[in-house]
Amino acid sequence: MAAKPKAARSGIPTRQKIRRTLLVASLLLMPVVINYGPPFLVIEGSANRVNCLTCNQVCSKSLDVNAMVQSGSFANPECILCGNCVDTCPKGNIRYAFRWSR
Ligand code: SF4
Repeated sequence: MAAKPKAARSGIPTRQKIRRTLLVASLLLMPVVINYGPPFLVIEGSANRVNCLTCNQVCSKSLDVNAMVQSGSFANPECILCGNCVDTCPKGNIRYAFRWSR
């Protein structure tokens, strides 16, 4: 008798289970995508910032990231979503998010 693959014995999902889960998830999301369009990747900040201005120093487009956090809007067409500000914020107050509109 052939031994079961190690992944199946340990309870780790097989590729087939992962594919099936992704298929079901995409089918469940399809009405949302049809009604609202695909989600956009955006940067967002939270109000409890520390004003250290590290985000301004690391921005690859030299944007005033701190001002964007203060205004609550990262809708700047020059932002290329590089994530430098996300990676370097010492408090983790700037993050990636998905939105249905910009
Ligand atoms: S994602 Fe990049 S370009 Fe956009 S504000 Fe942050 S550091 Fe600047």
